[in-house]
Amino acid sequence: MVFQAIAAASLHARQPLKEDYPLPDTLLRGAYLSFSAQPSNLTADPAALGTGVNYLSDAIISITQGVIDQVQSADAFVESGGSLAQCTDLRGSLLLPGFIDTHIHYPQMDIIAGYGTQLLDWLERYAFPAEIAYADLDYARAQAEVFMQTLFRHGTTTALTFTTVHKHTTDALLESAERHGARMIAGKVLMNRNAPDGLRDSGDGIAESAELIERWHNRGRTQYAVTPRFAITCTDDQMRAAGELLTEYPGTYLHTHLAEHPDEITATLELFPAAHDYVDVYDQFNMLTPRSVFAHGIHLSPRELDRLAETGAGIAFCPTSNLFLGSGLLNLDRLRDHNVTLSVGSDVGGGTSFSMLTTIAEGYKVSQLNNQTWHPMTALHAITRGNAEALGLGAKIGQISAGFEADITVLKPRPGSMLERRLANGATLTEQIFAAMFMGGDDAIEQTWVAGKKVFDRAQQDTSS
Ligand SMILES: [Zn+2]
Repeated sequence: MVFQAIAAASLHARQPLKEDYPLPDTLLRGAYLSFSAQPSNLTADPAALGTGVNYLSDAIISITQGVIDQVQSADAFVESGGSLAQCTDLRGSLLLPGFIDTHIHYPQMDIIAGYGTQLLDWLERYAFPAEIAYADLDYARAQAEVFMQTLFRHGTTTALTFTTVHKHTTDALLESAERHGARMIAGKVLMNRNAPDGLRDSGDGIAESAELIERWHNRGRTQYAVTPRFAITCTDDQMRAAGELLTEYPGTYLHTHLAEHPDEITATLELFPAAHDYVDVYDQFNMLTPRSVFAHGIHLSPRELDRLAETGAGIAFCPTSNLFLGSGLLNLDRLRDHNVTLSVGSDVGGGTSFSMLTTIAEGYKVSQLNNQTWHPMTALHAITRGNAEALGLGAKIGQISAGFEADITVLKPRPGSMLERRLANGATLTEQIFAAMFMGGDDAIEQTWVAGKKVFDRAQQDTSS
């Protein structure tokens, strides 16, 4: 049966229910896989799971008020008096922590696959015109809802996302996230130069950002990221003020782009002649923090990598985008050797898929071209617990474990898909994950649960369309 692994199970550490704890409102039954640490002791043997990997072929996940309160084997559940009839039966599927995307642009979802250009020209030709349309609030709201549904359909439950320069697009997106109960981080884009009319900050972008922080940061599950598009589109004054916001509002994120394309690096250094290098541009404005996420970071010197590591700032690896725009091949081993925090993002719409499975499949290809190997378990860890850790949310999301928010992605091949045929070949769990990366996309996602509530169900969508 699909996702009933041959590999040995490792039992999840159980935590007893508190006596005064309310009864679970949701019980999910199925195979589950989660990581309690960066996987290690991985070998070329696909039957070996390594350490840090928690797996049960028949588990019961108890959820109360949006939080996981226990994970145990079905046998243990029955022994302790539980009734299997009360469980939502997902046997034959594999339950994973909801996927996390650390770099995506919500206003760019309808321009995926714009033909024929590299970064700076692509921005002018495709991205900027698409973002101008978001000046219309009703459009921004409608698109925000489609964006959330599209994330869920691909198994993504949390994203760190760009919006546009218009203040109301951040409101629109986070209102939609809040309605669904999803953990979402977003911020108004700051850009006050080198952008077309209609996309430059017309008023005080910093004051607008502060207003949005007050409204959204740590309100329920929403959080705020100060979001200068990149140094090219922000004056010194705006960069300085953006850096000051991070100090003024501790706990907010910094989200921007870094060293994606050689032409962008040249243009940046011309605009900031006093800076030692690209990382130094952000550093001079106090933007390197443990809550800073820099998309791409492909072309960096050893000094720049060391400075990122020293400050705890991280790089979001966006392989579908890097390959699509011809930006370059990020060297994962080099990042690791310099102890730079790594996360993984789709970068839609420079990226070509919402699917984090597809994203790590392309990441695997980038590794191959660098003569490196990205183990499927390490890659799967990256889009779950790894991304949660990179966002400083490692105690809240990214694991199926007691005390974690109940964001769960349910994998099962779409009936009749090539993935279903591939998995019928009796593969090990690691081989099944690997096949799902390359052949899955949204065909691999059966259901998505956010804070203990089902927000996507393929069966319902198929019957309604
Ligand atoms: Zn981007």
